[in-house]
Amino acid sequence: MRLPIVELSDCIKCGVCVELCPEVFKLNSAGFIDVIELANYPETDVNEAIKYCPMDCIYWEE
Ligand code: SF4
Repeated sequence: MRLPIVELSDCIKCGVCVELCPEVFKLNSAGFIDVIELANYPETDVNEAIKYCPMDCIYWEE
């Protein structure tokens, strides 16, 4: 299964991924982006988040 990963050391917590794909990305109480556990990830929406992440810190892990 392909899993979206956020490289937290590069993330500036801008919230773009959460806005574009709230079913996958959420801001946790500590202020970091979490990837919600899902059986299947919506490829198109995750790709959108990857495309618009200003830090290029979201990627797919095969
Ligand atoms: S779009 Fe990228 S930089 Fe912005 S919060 Fe999401 S992972 Fe972090």
